Amino acid sequence: MTFELSERVQTVPPSGIRRFFEIAEERDDVISLGVGEPDFSTPWAARDAAIASLERGRTSYTANRGTRELREAIDEYVADRFDLEYDPAEEILVTAGASEAVDLAFRAFVDPGDTVAVAQPSYISYEPGVIFAGGEVLSVPTKETDDFRLTVDALEAAGADEADVLVLCYPNNPTGAIMRESDLEPIAEFVREHDLTVFSDEIYAELTYDGDHTSIATLPGMRERTIVFNGFSKAHAMTGLRLGYALGPSEAIGAMNKIHQYTMLSAPTTAQHAALEALESCENDVRDMVDQYDRRRRFVLSRFREIGMDVFEAKGAFYCFPEVPEGWTAEEFAEGVLREEGVAVVPGDVFGPGGEGHLRISYATGLEDLRKALARIESFVENNT
Ligand code: PLP
Repeated sequence: MTFELSERVQTVPPSGIRRFFEIAEERDDVISLGVGEPDFSTPWAARDAAIASLERGRTSYTANRGTRELREAIDEYVADRFDLEYDPAEEILVTAGASEAVDLAFRAFVDPGDTVAVAQPSYISYEPGVIFAGGEVLSVPTKETDDFRLTVDALEAAGADEADVLVLCYPNNPTGAIMRESDLEPIAEFVREHDLTVFSDEIYAELTYDGDHTSIATLPGMRERTIVFNGFSKAHAMTGLRLGYALGPSEAIGAMNKIHQYTMLSAPTTAQHAALEALESCENDVRDMVDQYDRRRRFVLSRFREIGMDVFEAKGAFYCFPEVPEGWTAEEFAEGVLREEGVAVVPGDVFGPGGEGHLRISYATGLEDLRKALARIESFVENNT
């Protein structure tokens, strides 16, 4: 028997990085700069809270929207860190990772035929999410000459004035670009003028190395048209605990909760207890991880420059995005450096238009491995260019 898969599922190609994992499995000395996952363990206080929660047998569902205590703690945290104010009763939804929040938003807002503009290169899940929801993606390429920031020129050139939703991801995966308030202001003006809804994925908001993050939702007239996504995977090193959240006006969050309550019921209970503790007592752990990422960032940027590869000054998340030397495609370079030197990196093309000719390098890896990996990349470049 053959299954008749839905057209939506068939339309989405398999992830472009799967082939690289297969090559990587052929060798046992691979250093991976490929994954977007902290190498740190979850801070102990949060792990202890998870253990205590299990020991007390707190293994039931929670309220659909998440525990009241966690929503209140999220409200305080985002107010304190990012000047965002949301009512814990109606404007915050706790989800199974930011991924669930992103998926819920597409399903709650996108009808078949709707257009979702995505500033790219960007995280690989937005495009499939739009397609699964029945919408169409409008790619808005950003340029290295703009430091991979989104500009109104890029929005206009792509025809984004006709779109229904605009997806932003800053600090950005894969480029490490950030958008300052002055960069966001003209974007907000464009969005208001053309009446778009904004999905702002701010999961890397804590990981900035040159000034604090600004959320587009804090700009005039933007709170009522923006859904913010955030979560505990990156800054709190909690990827496997699967916990994120969405912030937005009650009508929007209510619609997303409607899908969430039928499909997920509630986010993982143990993880909610860990996350509450993470917000209440792990600020120093986060600061310490951010310091270490920053040290690695500076090391990686300076090594790429020494090697002679152009790399723009990434200022957020835990990625940098060097250009491959002339004569190479990103895919050829990534495959070559993996086969010859055992270093896994991701070709920039997989993150959409604007990513061609670049590599995503994750520095969520210890300095010692980064040192070895950069030496191997250097010898690959010396032997092949
Ligand atoms: N958003 C971005 C920009 C990401 O890079 C990732 C993970 O790499 C996610 C969302 C997924 O986060 P979570 O683990 O909370 O689902």
